[in-house]
Amino acid sequence: MAARPPPLPEPRMNAPRPMLSLDEALARLIDGTRPHAITETETVSTFDGLGRVLAAEVLSTLDVPPEDNTSMDGYALRAADVPAAGAVLPVAQRIPAGHVGQPLQPGTAARIFTGGQVPAGADAVVMQEQCEAIAATSGQGLGAVKVNTRPEPGQWIRRRGEDVQRGAAVLLRGQRLTPQSLGLAASVGAAVLTVRRRPRVAIFSTGDELMMPGEPLRPGAIYNSNRYTLRALLQAAGCEVADLGIVRDTLDATRAALREAAAANDLIVTCGGVSVGEEDHLKPAAHAEGELQDWQIAIKPGKPLAFGTIRRESADAGASVALLVGLPGNPVSAFVTHVLAVSTVLRVLQGMDPALPAALPLRADFDWPRPDRRREFLRARLNAEGGLDLFPNQSSGVLTSAVWADGLIDNPPGQAIARGDGVRFLPLAALVAR
Ligand code: AMP
Ligand code: MG
Repeated sequence: MAARPPPLPEPRMNAPRPMLSLDEALARLIDGTRPHAITETETVSTFDGLGRVLAAEVLSTLDVPPEDNTSMDGYALRAADVPAAGAVLPVAQRIPAGHVGQPLQPGTAARIFTGGQVPAGADAVVMQEQCEAIAATSGQGLGAVKVNTRPEPGQWIRRRGEDVQRGAAVLLRGQRLTPQSLGLAASVGAAVLTVRRRPRVAIFSTGDELMMPGEPLRPGAIYNSNRYTLRALLQAAGCEVADLGIVRDTLDATRAALREAAAANDLIVTCGGVSVGEEDHLKPAAHAEGELQDWQIAIKPGKPLAFGTIRRESADAGASVALLVGLPGNPVSAFVTHVLAVSTVLRVLQGMDPALPAALPLRADFDWPRPDRRREFLRARLNAEGGLDLFPNQSSGVLTSAVWADGLIDNPPGQAIARGDGVRFLPLAALVAR
């Protein structure tokens, strides 16, 4: 008779959870995500590349600009032909943008318009404001020009290749495409771009108190704000979002939601239920459906965070697990931990540099005498004097603070702040959709 396998150890839900520094937690997220990075790529029209992440560098096969051209409307000439202001030169040709002139004969000028290719032999452009056109006496031909300045060789000429040189990598793998990078890709003639497949991310909110806007609020309930915040954060980061809605506070419902979410997604992001209360089912559910690291991160807001993997039922050739990040339920905690932790996971998934953006050194125009022992991310706003104001209520439930703020002050553990002190400021513009 075959021996019965030993019973699986019960997950030790009450064991003290390690308190991690944010840096340590992010390092573990990065290591834990790397094996699951998305490798599939797609070709998109450069028109449709906004927000996508490049999977291959964009190399230029040409110089930009392709030839020397003028940055001013005026006259192309040889500086040596104008030894002093007041020289008069016959105008031998006219070169609008998009046209190629003849080589410049010494002692002549070419009428030229912004973007027009500077003719061979010319070494300067004089802007038309510094010239006087002299009509041809016969009424025929292009007349002459009196140059009222002494030109410097090279002036008002945009040099061939001064923007991009042939062979240069103008955009790199792992770069997120901005409007200006699409323009740069187009400027080197790239009609299509190779990008990473969009991450597929499932989200759900846990909590029996949650109701949806549009429903009349019953006693004891609140509206589900995190669903909107997290969904939009993911959309802004270029993810395909599968929104599973609100999951009731039971172990079975949470397990079923995790299974459904894992089936077709790279990542599952949940909010709520990651504390140790009796109504917090995310962690036991994740233990049952996969593997979980259950962390307390020494940050405020956003202490509890769950990171793990959920098994896929029909694991085919692809990855057999989906990643899970369980965020705390308080709206500011969910927002802050998303921009710190979920964004890091998403960046690793897409082959991007996961480092947090650089913090700016700025002056505090407020006092913060009673700091927390944890590293704080305080909601603050730039003022007109170049300093920072603090939102008066830093509670993790006060979502108004995250709308009022334009950045987070990254305050070290236990660090009191006095008016005039230098602090480190992370602009939300650099954190959201990074
Ligand atoms: P929990 O992490 O589930 O204990 O929730 C912590 C706090 O966040 C509680 O006050 C919840 O009511 C609140 N909360 C949880 N989920 C949401 C959500 N999706 N939208 C708004 N508030 C939430
Ligand atoms: Mg809850």
